[in-house]
Amino acid sequence: ETIEEKSSVGSRILVFVRLRPMAKKEKEAGSRCCVRIVNRRDVFLTEFASENDYLRLKRLRGRHFTFDASFPDSTSQQEVYSTTTADLVEGVLQGKNGSVFCYGATGAGKTYTMLGTMENPGVMVLAMKDLFAKIRHRSCDGNHVVHLSYLEVYNETVRDLLSPGRPLVLREDKQGIVASGLTQYRAYSTDEVMALLQRGNQNRTTEPTRVNETSSRSHAILQVVAEYRVRDDTMNVVNRVGKLSLIDLAGSERALATDQRTLRSIEGANINRSLLALSSCINALVEGKKHIPYRNSKLTQLLKDSLGGACNTVMIANISPSNLSFGETQNTLHWADRAK
Ligand code: ADP
Ligand code: MG
Repeated sequence: ETIEEKSSVGSRILVFVRLRPMAKKEKEAGSRCCVRIVNRRDVFLTEFASENDYLRLKRLRGRHFTFDASFPDSTSQQEVYSTTTADLVEGVLQGKNGSVFCYGATGAGKTYTMLGTMENPGVMVLAMKDLFAKIRHRSCDGNHVVHLSYLEVYNETVRDLLSPGRPLVLREDKQGIVASGLTQYRAYSTDEVMALLQRGNQNRTTEPTRVNETSSRSHAILQVVAEYRVRDDTMNVVNRVGKLSLIDLAGSERALATDQRTLRSIEGANINRSLLALSSCINALVEGKKHIPYRNSKLTQLLKDSLGGACNTVMIANISPSNLSFGETQNTLHWADRAK
């Protein structure tokens, strides 16, 4: 099926894969690399480290995947940002919504890709930097206003990561679904953003048994809203609003195996309802279905106006190179393949 055929039926979702470098722990455990990326597009999953016969690998069914782009472990944060998200930031300034997700097992590199470190800031920070640069470039009259919200969905409870407290209630109004009382932080520059997001990230729910370690079942959502006044063709002043949602998803390790079960048994098995509901929505969008089941989870309710329709949706699947994670990597690649 070609890209052109796909886009005529359903929404087109851009799907990328990012391979992270082998971790020290993985090396020490004697692991081998089982992922090879060729031509920045093809991903091969192989159990043999010495295997590099491109054509022979291509014939191994279920082991070869192609995406819009695939990033080898040497890819910089800036390149990941430019390829995956820069166009969406441009769209936001034209009043379009968009969303970028990082999907993958715990430890695969989702938070590194989204948030990054002080030295190597990730997509969230680079998007803000680019947004401010574009605004400065475009307007000298200061008519743009940028607001940030940073929230978490954990066990179907929504929390404000910028001002932690009681869970937030979702309600529907004219503009769509809103979380009552959610902090709308007015941002003026990039400098303040990294510190703000790192502080927010420390407010993410931690697993009771492992304090200081973010729960693998927590989704973090950064929403950036750019609002500004422009003159339309008839020289009337109109308000334009664009929203970008950047999402560091919960670990996918327990999601796929139970894809077929009912929601009730999923909850019993402690599977992440929001992650599963997101999969259903994405599959429905890609298949061009009329009914998209947004109401099935808090995550999909929150993102209703940023998924599908006229929106731009980007998926970054994060994977580890280690053969010790072979099964998880294969699940992630299959999931990403279905989102194309
Ligand atoms: P996840 O959020 O998916 O659980 P993390 O982003 O926390 O995974 O990544 C796990 C570890 O690997 C972290 O120590 C992180 O700094 C490191 N890491 C992940 N991706 C990269 C990368 N592209 N380059 C360097 N280090 C990375
Ligand atoms: Mg993480």
